[in-house]
Amino acid sequence: MTRKILVTGGTGFIGSHTCVELIAGGYQVLVLDNLSNSRETVLDAIEQISGARPGFIRGDIRDRALLDSIFKQHDIGAVIHFAGLKAVGESVARPLDYHDNNVAGTVTLLQAMQQAGVRSLVFSSSATVYGDPQQLPIPEDHPLSATNPYGHTKLVLEEIMGQLSRSEPGWRIALLRYFNPVGAHPSGLIGEAPQGVPNNLMPYVAQVASGQRERVQVFGQDYDTPDGTGVRDYIHVMDLAQGHVAALRYLQDNEPELLAVNLGTGRGYSVLEMIQAFARSSGRDIPYTIAPRRPGDIAACWADTRLAREKLGWTAVRDIQEMCDDAWRWQARQS
Ligand code: NAD
Ligand code: UDP
Repeated sequence: MTRKILVTGGTGFIGSHTCVELIAGGYQVLVLDNLSNSRETVLDAIEQISGARPGFIRGDIRDRALLDSIFKQHDIGAVIHFAGLKAVGESVARPLDYHDNNVAGTVTLLQAMQQAGVRSLVFSSSATVYGDPQQLPIPEDHPLSATNPYGHTKLVLEEIMGQLSRSEPGWRIALLRYFNPVGAHPSGLIGEAPQGVPNNLMPYVAQVASGQRERVQVFGQDYDTPDGTGVRDYIHVMDLAQGHVAALRYLQDNEPELLAVNLGTGRGYSVLEMIQAFARSSGRDIPYTIAPRRPGDIAACWADTRLAREKLGWTAVRDIQEMCDDAWRWQARQS
């Protein structure tokens, strides 16, 4: 029997799309999620898309007894670990919650994996670990730093996993540094469902297009970029999902290793370019105003994608129009 992949945070935005790609790749999937930022109905949508329903356990990665029982009852071959809190502003207001959920939660998961002898892990890291980039595109050996508690949790966890893999041979770990995940499954059945006011640009733009919000605030038009607005490497969540399957295969097929790798497209787009692309996809006007810079924001950020191509044989293939088309299809089905 094939061993299962335990997907923590599997009902969340990136996790749900990755479940679809894992099932398509022939994997058996078991989701562990406490539903703090997602809904159980996501599993129905995954089943509708892929024809198979992942196993589901509602629970918390900080619950060691639960983790031990999961590893005992299921034949887990590897873990893909998405579960965590991700809002930068909230992390500044409630740093202890972030350290508890993200750092302590992941340490508990690693301890349970160690005890169960499961040593293959794909971890959701972030381009935020590069801090304010000193060079573009950003290569994986760029110096690392954190500018807020959320980023600090990712940095600390990368370090902890480095220490673990050096202390004990046999660990196969991929630290996937995501750039800016956007878009949705082309069916429109799963996508990003932020609670309250979206912090990120694209869900906010989508809600303006659908009439839920009045206008986008563009945070700064005085950056050293072609149109003065911030530039980011937006990546379609389906490309990202496929990157996880590629990473899993890489870990299975190679000697134990700790691999840190960027998942991005290698191209940057400005806030205004993204608003225009979304207006094209939705056929709606997207009003915006120029607002002051958001504290802590950087001017520009995009990935050096060579390592992902060389090691994982993976590159992103979907362009910004496809990202906006798919995000709009999902948005239009909401409310
Ligand atoms: P998400 O909030 O949609 O998904 C995270 C899931 O984890 C949610 O379903 C939530 O209910 C669950 N969860 C949170 N804490 C948990 C806990 N203690 N135990 C069990 N389940 C828990 O977020 P996402 O956008 O899918 O992000 C997934 C991962 O990718 C996160 O670790 C995030 O930090 C990282 N990441 C996201 C982005 C992004 O822009 N979306 C960028 C870089 C990195
Ligand atoms: N941004 C904006 N208005 C918003 C949200 C974001 O102008 O309501 C800008 C932000 O300043 C940055 C880009 O959009 O230049 C991407 O921001 P997001 O929060 O989506 O991602 P991150 O800051 O993590 O790269």
